[in-house]
This record gives sequence, structure tokens and C-alpha cells, in this order.
Amino acid sequence: MSWTLALHGGAENVSLDEDRKEYKDALAACLDRGASVLSERSPPSFSPYAHLNIATQAVIETVMALEDCDLFNAGHGSLFNEDGLFEMDAQVMDNRGHCGACVGLSRIRNPILAAEKIMSNTPHALVTSPSAEEFAIKHGLRTETHQYFHTERRFKAWQAVREAKKTASGQDGADVNEHCRGTVGAVAKDKQGNIACAVSTGGTIDKMRGRVGDSPIIGGGCYAGSSAGVCGTGKGEVFLYHNTCGRICAAMDYAGLSLQDACEREMSAMAAGSGGVIAIDSDGGCVMQHSTQAMPRAMQDSAGRRKIAIWKEWEENQEVSE
Ligand code: ASP
Repeated sequence: MSWTLALHGGAENVSLDEDRKEYKDALAACLDRGASVLSERSPPSFSPYAHLNIATQAVIETVMALEDCDLFNAGHGSLFNEDGLFEMDAQVMDNRGHCGACVGLSRIRNPILAAEKIMSNTPHALVTSPSAEEFAIKHGLRTETHQYFHTERRFKAWQAVREAKKTASGQDGADVNEHCRGTVGAVAKDKQGNIACAVSTGGTIDKMRGRVGDSPIIGGGCYAGSSAGVCGTGKGEVFLYHNTCGRICAAMDYAGLSLQDACEREMSAMAAGSGGVIAIDSDGGCVMQHSTQAMPRAMQDSAGRRKIAIWKEWEENQEVSE
């Protein structure tokens, strides 16, 4: 049987042109991490993992790599909230009914591992902090100080948003937030037929303390069903309203749509610029769509396809051999 992996680093209405090479190198490195697990060339770096199916191991490994890279809004590169602090959310799920999600972490280096701990070690699907964070620490997950999450790139962006909000008096700041989003996600189908997806985010810039977006919400930020696995990124409030990822799977299950048609239908239901999705169906077919200017993304499969792109078109296609 075949395997397929897809990942994204957020959908944004910025050109990302200056950092093009940096983004592509980072995407390639994260893709390699997940692909080596899916191709069963090497086990994931986290442990213990043997109770997880290969697709779930691969998406966690991929998201950990994205969280460790400060270019993306998750883990190390998380955006600041209105208090200048970090509140990170994550979710992992598979098509066998296993899911775990956590909200409001501020110290865990890899929030996706906290979501996995909730999935594997509690009878619950979604846990908020401080309980989620305490649980992750009790289970030995690595913590970091505020300084680790405080990156210059994000700090400058946050200051710029605060300034813009001061001058845009009377507005709610929605327009200035437009340019400062992101989230990371990965979807995989393994050789055994398992489908899994994982997302992790720092949320939106200067967000209200306690705000929760779509990322940790099952069906909103990601969904893995019998027909497909889907991850979304973009305006969390819009994805929540549309229940985008769950509806893409439902459109396939109940209306018999192909993955491509289901993604197009749900993406066109949301205003242009709302975000993007990456998705893989049970045959290993992969769809990646966005209505923003950019969505750093990549995919690889066992048939030797490997693609890395930032803008609308696939810019870089490489054949790989296993
Ligand atoms: N959807 C995320 C959130 O609203 C942000 C993003 O994906 O850009 O928290």
C-alpha cells in the first residue's frame, strides 16, 4: 500500500518573498522528518510512540519539526497575545476515533506532544490549561522559559500591530491582524491505511487572553474520517463557523464528492483570504488549496512525488526515489 504526507506552515496574506529560500529549506527539512517515519526508514524522535499508528507518528514528528522552527506560528515561533504572553493550542486525531487536543499552553516546547498525551492517557478529547499544561509536565514533556518563545520577528510584528491599533482608534484591530497569522499542520496516510492529522498554533497576534481558535477544535482546525484527513489554517473564527475540516469529510461521506470537489466547495463557502486547507484521501490523493496570497506547503508520497511551494502554483517539483 502507498503512503502520502502533506504539511503546511500557515496561510497568510503576505508575500513571504524575501524569505523564500529560508521557508523552502524549512519545509523540506520538516517533510523529510515525517517522510522518514512514513516510509519506515526511521522511527520518530519522540518516545514512547509504539502504541501509535505510523500515520499518527508521522504527523506528530512533522508538526514537532514545524514547532521547533521559528518561521512558523507554533511552538518556538508563536505569536504574542494581548499581554505579551503565549497561549498555544494543538490537536491530533486519526480515522479510528482517537483524538486529543489542548488549549492555552505557555511553557511546553512541543504542544503537539501534549495533545498526544491527552489522546493516549486520558478518556478526554480536549483539555484546557492550566490543567492541560500541568498534565503535560507530569508526563515529562520538555518545558521552555518565556525567552525561548520570545523571538525578535514575532515581537516586532506584535509591536507593529499594537501601534497600528492605537492609530486605528475606534476599530477592533481586525484589519491589522490580517497580516499576522499562521499555524502548522500535517496530514498523513500510511501503508496500513491509517489517516491522521495534527495541528499546532500560537493563535492570532495580540489575541484576547483566553481566546480559542479553530486549531484545537475537532472538525474546525482538523478532522480525520474514513474518507480523508484535513487540516485548516486561517481565520480561526471563520473556520469554526463553517466547521470546515469536518464538513469536507462529510461532503465526501454523505454527498459522494471527491476530495478535490469537497475542498473547493468548502473553501468557496468562506470569503477570499480566509485561509487554506491541506487534505489526503484514503487512496493517498492530496489536495492543498488556499485563498490567501501565500501558504507555505509541501507533500511527498511513496510513488516518488515531492512538491514544495509557497504561492498559488507549485513552484518546485522533485521526483524522489525510496
Ligand atoms: N487558525 C488559527 C487560529 O485562528 C490561526 C491560523 O491558522 O492562522 O488560531
